[in-house]
Amino acid sequence: MDRLYDSQLVKTSSYINGRWHGSLSDVAVNNPATNEIIATVSNAGIVETTLAVEAAKAAFKPWSKKSADERSRLLRNWYHLIMDNVDDLARILTLEQGKPLSEAKGEIAYGASFIEWFSEEAKRIYGDIIPSPSDDKRLVVIKQPIGVVAAITPWNFPNAMIARKAAAALAAGCTFVVRPAIQTPLSALALAELAERAGIPAGVFNVVVGDDAHGMGKVLTEHQDIAKFSFTGSTKVGKLLISQCASTVKRVSMELGGNAPFIVFDDADIDAAVAGALISKYRNAGQTCVCTNRILVQESVLAEFTEKFVNAVRGLTLGNGLHDGVTIGPMISAQAVNDVKQLISDSIEQGATLVLGDEKTTRDCSLSQEGNFLAPTVLTNIINDMPIARNEIFGPVSPIITFKDEAQAIALANDTVFGLASYFYSRDIGRIWRIAESLDYGMVGINEGIISNATAPFGGMKQSGNGREGSKYGLDDYLEIKYLCMGGLS
Ligand code: NAP
Repeated sequence: MDRLYDSQLVKTSSYINGRWHGSLSDVAVNNPATNEIIATVSNAGIVETTLAVEAAKAAFKPWSKKSADERSRLLRNWYHLIMDNVDDLARILTLEQGKPLSEAKGEIAYGASFIEWFSEEAKRIYGDIIPSPSDDKRLVVIKQPIGVVAAITPWNFPNAMIARKAAAALAAGCTFVVRPAIQTPLSALALAELAERAGIPAGVFNVVVGDDAHGMGKVLTEHQDIAKFSFTGSTKVGKLLISQCASTVKRVSMELGGNAPFIVFDDADIDAAVAGALISKYRNAGQTCVCTNRILVQESVLAEFTEKFVNAVRGLTLGNGLHDGVTIGPMISAQAVNDVKQLISDSIEQGATLVLGDEKTTRDCSLSQEGNFLAPTVLTNIINDMPIARNEIFGPVSPIITFKDEAQAIALANDTVFGLASYFYSRDIGRIWRIAESLDYGMVGINEGIISNATAPFGGMKQSGNGREGSKYGLDDYLEIKYLCMGGLS
């Protein structure tokens, strides 16, 4: 922290109604690479969360009445301030989350790109005029901001998961309260500091930090003054939060878990597939919702793909994300490491082969004391029924499954309750369309392992959630469609 250019970006209390709110108790924030405490933050709870909702409610009318130009200008200020401070924001992010500094810089730019995109989209919230069925009426559709938006976000993208939601909400004219994951509050609070410097008025963007996920979550899902709730996190918690939102019939958006298949067909450019699988799987130590969960390889190219892939994975450098040359950082916690080790260990017991990885550490399921590292691992002889293929792994492990033909590849790929991201590699244009249209996923990467950007709709099908973030569709989740019927005009 002492190497930041601007130490004022490190904030340690909740940001409510334009003020920093201390609490009676504190929570420690750890560096997952060293397990050292890097900061303590004030531990807000139900009271502060309720205050933040009240502030957002009071700020809603003036914010929604601002011209689209004015909201756009303030969002653009925020975007520029974030990009001006990218080095500090990335350092804070790596310290609390673990990902390598270059990836952290990428996340800051990715998050900011949504603020830039929605600063532009704020000016394009058009309505419609509907041809009237009778002469004396005119039918008009206008779009209006839905109201106060509440959000809960995870630790794996502590900046971008907030920016992606807040940008669309604020552009639409909504006000916003977010509770970030307790492991990674500092990135969220730094965003609040920059929102204030950008001139975003008090009460429009609020951040409440505290360890009472359940209690604070109840306020954010059940408070009657919140019109919409947006969640990014696991499917298990998402289901609970949807049910809590039912009591006040809130609009919900859910960005939940994934189980992405990465399919390599016999006509693929194998080197390109290896590069795509490497980045899709091992980015953020495998802790992304869109990361490859199962690699499906056609029999005839299995040997070539596996050899090249294992060599590429061997080239990754595991270590502290702040150190030069490190390409894969720690996992978020010792418990997360242990959960993934258990999946590896169970797979080996059920017949999988450990082609790459540390046999001793993967079989030692005791909790680590110094840093939360797991060596990049590759397993073959996986079948789709094994727990490692059915569950979201959320760690640096590649299970490889073999298939014979297109029909089997599609069946295996779709044989999951999840439907977020999927990937395949092929150079046959007919096959590309057949497979793309057959995959039950909200996003399909074709000869590409990194697919998300602000201009494209991000979101899932099935139990991976609903709603879309980014793109021209991203504002819809924050807008009401209102129909005006003007009569007596003849
Ligand atoms: P998680 O356990 O569901 O936690 C996500 C957030 O929910 C955290 O802020 C957590 O708070 C909070 N939370 C947990 N229990 C809660 C409760 N009962 N009431 C209210 N809030 C509660 O997920 P995670 O393990 O941290 O994150 C990884 C998951 O997120 C993966 O499944 C991943 O696929 C998914 N994800 C999805 C997307 C997407 O766009 N689809 C993007 C990123 C991640 P605390 O951490 O403070 O307990």
